[in-house]
Amino acid sequence: MDKAIQFEHPEIEKLDRDGIVAIQKTKLKALGERLQNSPEWVQHFKKAGMAPRDLGDFDSLHHAPTLEKSDLRALYPFPMLTVDMSQVRRFVATSGTTGLPVLFGLTDKDLNHLIPYQMCRVLRAAGMTPADRVYQGYGYGLWIGGLAMDIGLNAFGATNFPLGPGRGDLVTTWLSDHGYTACSLSPLWLMTLVTMAKAQGIDPRKAWKLRVGVFGGQSISAAFRDQLEAEMPPGFMAQNIYGTTEAGGPLVSISCPYSHDVDEMHLINEDTIITEVVDPVTLKPVAPGEVGEIVITTLDRDASPVVRWRTRDLVRLSADAYSCPCGRHGMPKIGRIIGRSDDMIKVRGVMVFPTQVEDIIAATEGAVKEAWHIYIDQDDEAMEQLTVAVERSKASTTPREDIQYRIGHAIHSRLGIRVTVECHDEGVLPRYEAKAVRVHRRGKAKA
Ligand SMILES: [Zn+2]
Repeated sequence: MDKAIQFEHPEIEKLDRDGIVAIQKTKLKALGERLQNSPEWVQHFKKAGMAPRDLGDFDSLHHAPTLEKSDLRALYPFPMLTVDMSQVRRFVATSGTTGLPVLFGLTDKDLNHLIPYQMCRVLRAAGMTPADRVYQGYGYGLWIGGLAMDIGLNAFGATNFPLGPGRGDLVTTWLSDHGYTACSLSPLWLMTLVTMAKAQGIDPRKAWKLRVGVFGGQSISAAFRDQLEAEMPPGFMAQNIYGTTEAGGPLVSISCPYSHDVDEMHLINEDTIITEVVDPVTLKPVAPGEVGEIVITTLDRDASPVVRWRTRDLVRLSADAYSCPCGRHGMPKIGRIIGRSDDMIKVRGVMVFPTQVEDIIAATEGAVKEAWHIYIDQDDEAMEQLTVAVERSKASTTPREDIQYRIGHAIHSRLGIRVTVECHDEGVLPRYEAKAVRVHRRGKAKA
């Protein structure tokens, strides 16, 4: 382990907001000077009649052009690299669910200094310790999740079991036999593992030793988190983690043992990342307690920095953002990711987020929590019809018709739309090991 990397940063984490902003100002100025040497970045800033160097004036950040996937796609194959290719050690990419993946480079500095620094902070805030044995269930390859966790756990000094996603039978066995105390994976995958373990006669509450987990990769509801915790050994804490490839990994925000109960996360790396929460239409900062889109500027990334990256992830800025008993008063708090502005489904004029539907399913007796899908069908009059497909738990005695009625009724009363609910037997609907695809558009029904 690099001696320069320390996994505790009290001198930063104890700063008040002014102290953090002072660091951001200094670093933003340096970033602007650096981007001034990149023709692609100079060109990009021209869209707003600016030059990268203007970032020296901190307030000008709010006038700088935002960056989106289409900007990077236009510069295929290696968009906006600020170092020579010979200095890039590795590439990571966005998931590429639509179109080709977009590549982001990582230099030695990114891989061996920045990510360890940021990830150690995240792991420690979540309540992990170097003594933890960690089941690392994030994916590898081009995806940054598994890579960042590996780097972080190594620097932190924990013991990593990098199983990645999948191999459920092996994981359920090793969770018992290896005594993992911490985990990083998709929350839905852990719920699937619980179901598999129970089918094998294993009671995770007794057989497993998990005491903390960081859960990212998809947004789930607080109700789902509570149910997941109830299936785990007593005292287990499911910490919510958020990040993106563009930000440099799962390192933008994390819940701490105090913010866990109010279901909020600290923007934990504000000395290396500036996070704006803005109205997706006006791009103006939202007030505390309001919902906005997360927009990210990376201050220290070497090969592939971003300035005002539009994540499309919507979140509520905490009404009490700068106060937490943990003492991180300079690292504001945000709520759980509510949804993606692109995932937002508009049905007959009503905005619906898949997580709202999930909340209702999670609260419905007899419905399987981790398996549900939304189908959008268009009829001949171009009217969109929504179908919600769920499963009835094998152990449930609630009739299918009751489950269908309760979910349909709850969606209508809470979201104001009428949907068709299909209730299947447990195990019929597709499962996902990593990012779940929940919303499916179906073509016009054949007459
Ligand atoms: Zn806290």
